[in-house]
Amino acid sequence: MVIPMKVIDLTPRGYCHGVLNALAMVKKVIKTESYPRPIYVLGQIVHNKKITEAFNAFGVISLDQTGKTRYEMLDEITSGTVIFTAHGVSKQAIEKAKQKGLVVLNATCRDVTKVHRAVEQKLEEGYEIVYIGHKNHPEPEAILAISDSIYFVENERDVLLLPNLLSEKKLFVTNQTTLSMYDIESVLSILKTKFPHYLFDNEICHATTVRQEAVMKQDKVDLMLVVGDTLSSNSNKLAFVGEHHQKIPSKLIGGVEDIDLAWLKGIDSVSVTSGASTPTKVTEEVISFLKQYKENDPTTWDHQSKLELIDIL
Ligand code: SF4
Repeated sequence: MVIPMKVIDLTPRGYCHGVLNALAMVKKVIKTESYPRPIYVLGQIVHNKKITEAFNAFGVISLDQTGKTRYEMLDEITSGTVIFTAHGVSKQAIEKAKQKGLVVLNATCRDVTKVHRAVEQKLEEGYEIVYIGHKNHPEPEAILAISDSIYFVENERDVLLLPNLLSEKKLFVTNQTTLSMYDIESVLSILKTKFPHYLFDNEICHATTVRQEAVMKQDKVDLMLVVGDTLSSNSNKLAFVGEHHQKIPSKLIGGVEDIDLAWLKGIDSVSVTSGASTPTKVTEEVISFLKQYKENDPTTWDHQSKLELIDIL
């Protein structure tokens, strides 16, 4: 008798409140004719290609130009409604959009707004700011637009390049909401040797934290699948935490179609989680496939997605 593979559905996983809010905002604009057309989203409303494609099918134009800031991308827009994404936006970009006569909607997550407030407050109190984040991600872009006196660091090397004069200043350190504690700890330990007087405010959001904790607390399995987009910071972190800290072979997949059947050969157990911007139905399709999969039965091997764009939303 063939023993079926054990499939563990980790919880919590999937959508967070910031993503739900952003999706609801775009859906409302699509349904409400009084919002002027065209409808633009600057960047991807949340970092998931399937969601972006689904909204595009409803006429939403997602402007995402590598190397350009939200502020610069506004040059392309002359009329309509513009929606800023959950990752946050600079005040300058909002002002520019309003001056162009666009209808402006801001889907910035409240957890991201909290970091903006903390940075603004500490600047007013005379602190220099060190912000830990990922290069080319929209969340740091908006934070760095607050002031020229914010130092951006991604890794230990960046910390070593910080000017020595910071040792004589009040120093406030904070971070992008979707990092892992492991990214932050390595940067903080170098900071500690250079500027031991810094004040630190951990801003990894609750949604990111509890999803990572679920990965850390799981029993050992042969494989973990993280359903999420390659652009999604929090999805990448889930795979990183699984692979490097739980020592479980971990794969990031966009959906069931990305599963390589070679990964499932000879394994007894697989766990599944998903990033905060991954549609629930996409993750459910992965779990359903794994539950019926049998290595010795080719009739269970079909893993093409059957989801329609409308299912994604
Ligand atoms: S991952 Fe965290 S910061 Fe980002 S949208 Fe979700 S709750 Fe907000």
